Amino acid sequence: METCCVVIINDKLCSSLLVIILDTNPIWWGKKRLSGEKLNLTHCVDSVAVLANSHLMLNHKNKLAVIAAHTDHSVFLYPRPPSEHTSPPKAPLDGQFEVFNQVENQLRSEIKKLIASDKQKLDEMFEPVELPSDSLVAGAMCKALCYIHRLGKECPIGETLTSRILIIKGSEDCPSQYMNFMNAVFTAQKQNIIIDACVLDADSGLLQQACDITGGTYLKIPQPLGLLQYLTWVFLPDFEMRSKMTLPPRAQVDYRAACFCHRNLIDIGYVCSVCLSIYCTFSPICSTCQTTFKILGPQKLMKKKKKI
Ligand SMILES: [Zn+2]
Ligand SMILES: [Zn+2]
Repeated sequence: METCCVVIINDKLCSSLLVIILDTNPIWWGKKRLSGEKLNLTHCVDSVAVLANSHLMLNHKNKLAVIAAHTDHSVFLYPRPPSEHTSPPKAPLDGQFEVFNQVENQLRSEIKKLIASDKQKLDEMFEPVELPSDSLVAGAMCKALCYIHRLGKECPIGETLTSRILIIKGSEDCPSQYMNFMNAVFTAQKQNIIIDACVLDADSGLLQQACDITGGTYLKIPQPLGLLQYLTWVFLPDFEMRSKMTLPPRAQVDYRAACFCHRNLIDIGYVCSVCLSIYCTFSPICSTCQTTFKILGPQKLMKKKKKI
């Protein structure tokens, strides 16, 4: 009689949590591309599902979460709250691992729900209203950080959980989210959470800063149709593994900050010496901490010099 021997290799008491933030902005996904390349949301969701399943396959203890950053809210696509009533899962294909099937189906059905709710909202409005062209990435990051914190607390004693966030974004940056975004980035840095960014369209200054601060990888993909290859090549390996691989060189970081008065990205501005708020024009009272600044005008300076 044959005996079966199972050898567990590399069974570390260490699990990895990957939180994927997917930009589902309907304005950006519905936009006609100049390059003529047809990367659509379905293709992107398929690629994300493959990345998610590959991550789960690397180690049986690995965990996954997917959050959609929509126009005015962010929502968990996977996992859904246990209390929520969900339709019974479809039967897996022959030989397919049940969890993989669950991830794929849940991602697709939740995105369908998001799009349907958008359509319903637009139909209910009497006048056509323009949806915002940016996505609530900062909100999704905060949700991701809270989720990571919760799982870290629930982690059994003796086990460690390393977490990272991957942001897949196409829509433009929104300077009005600057404060919340940077707060989330600095929180991630303090918690040793890496933020990676995969940008599908124009470069994002805010994401460049986020990746640089937290030690993550920023990549603006040159060919959107090859999204799956870029995701599995650059973003599947964890931080320890990346140093052993040949990855694309680091991008130059655009370190411009947004002014607190108009939320515009500026190169040179005025900084409050008390609370470090940034302004594009001089204001005698800091609107954040109410400090009053007294500046000697040029005439007064001239008079003082004469006296000396
Ligand atoms: Zn301003
Ligand atoms: Zn101030």
